[in-house]
Amino acid sequence: MPDRESLLDRFARYVRIDTQSSESSQTYPSTEKQKDLLRVLVSDLADAGLGDAAMDEWGYVTATLASNLPPDHPSLGKVPTIGLVAHVDTYHEVSGTDVKPQVHRNYDGGDIVLPGDPSIVIRAADEPALAACKGMTIITADGTTLLGADDKAGVAEILEALWRLKENPSRLHGTIRVAFTPDEEVGRGTEHFDVKQFAADFAYTIDGSGVGELEDETFCADSAHVTVKGADVHPGYAKGKMVNALRVLADLIMALPPDRTPETTELRQGYLHPINVSGNVSEAKAHFLVRDFTEEGLREFEAVLRETAGRSERKHPGSTITLEIKESYRNMRYLINTHAEVVDYAEEAIRRTGLTPRRTSVRGGTDGARLSYMGLLTPNLFDGSMNFHGKKEWIPLEWMEKAVETILNVLDVWVEKSAK
Ligand SMILES: [Zn+2]
Repeated sequence: MPDRESLLDRFARYVRIDTQSSESSQTYPSTEKQKDLLRVLVSDLADAGLGDAAMDEWGYVTATLASNLPPDHPSLGKVPTIGLVAHVDTYHEVSGTDVKPQVHRNYDGGDIVLPGDPSIVIRAADEPALAACKGMTIITADGTTLLGADDKAGVAEILEALWRLKENPSRLHGTIRVAFTPDEEVGRGTEHFDVKQFAADFAYTIDGSGVGELEDETFCADSAHVTVKGADVHPGYAKGKMVNALRVLADLIMALPPDRTPETTELRQGYLHPINVSGNVSEAKAHFLVRDFTEEGLREFEAVLRETAGRSERKHPGSTITLEIKESYRNMRYLINTHAEVVDYAEEAIRRTGLTPRRTSVRGGTDGARLSYMGLLTPNLFDGSMNFHGKKEWIPLEWMEKAVETILNVLDVWVEKSAK
């Protein structure tokens, strides 16, 4: 029988442990305190029957649940090893110290005032998804910290799924590998991850997103470095001689299309985004982020940048502008297309929990996308968390339960489909 209370207790226990990561740190993991939870997880995995659970020198916790397929099972030897991955760190900009989870049972559909700071109110009017949660058990922080459901919900859901397998030995599964990782929020979650040693064939991250969501797309990303060379002379005697690189660069930036910026785009639109400028009269540099869901889109943005640079150069005789493009990462969809079943089976699993699957795209990169390009295809399955990265984070226990069921269902689907 599903045990929601044990899921709630586990989640509440994890969010109370401070695991905030740090952008400025040079160490790995970026903060030592992430290991406080990682150590707990080693022992919780062992309790759930994963005897080889261990933490490596970087803080990654991995463990194996061996297949329990009987010798005559048609999937034996055919079902791939599936990885389940979640991150333990919380967002670096909002405190995760002394989190006091609040459990709002039988939610009445109204605003939720957070008791630790009553000025922080989760307003039903601002949260269209909340309306569907009337009568559910909503978990929030107390208004003084974030909750950390991103991604301790994912961590708790994976462990709960493992417990249910332990308690139901007749539910058959292939080999399962589990990884809990640090430093996802600072973009370094896979920095030392050993894909070979993890030895999963496919994996799913269980991470921040609403119930029923399945993320199989990320941006394609390049960075563009523009260098403007001018000519410096004494400003008192500069007429007709000086070419000010700063002015040329400012001109170039202002001439770029204003409707293709992060401030003016959403959904599947890409953008061209200056994030840093530096320089002086004789030389100025700018660093741009180029983002789109397709490589063709990236090429178009880069052509726009190149043409605009050419016009700025002609407008300022004596200046020269060079452009250098560097590849950052690519849409994980390109790789998933080669093994569409990874996403199809996840959709089937979501449907079996009684939900309508929603495929969504991430306007950024993810650890799953990086793992995919490191050789381990890893789309993301929802953990049910909402409003993550802020004090108004909330998550319904019923959605966490759906996530647990979805994890178990996807393992079932892999066993069934491998028999054929
Ligand atoms: Zn996350």
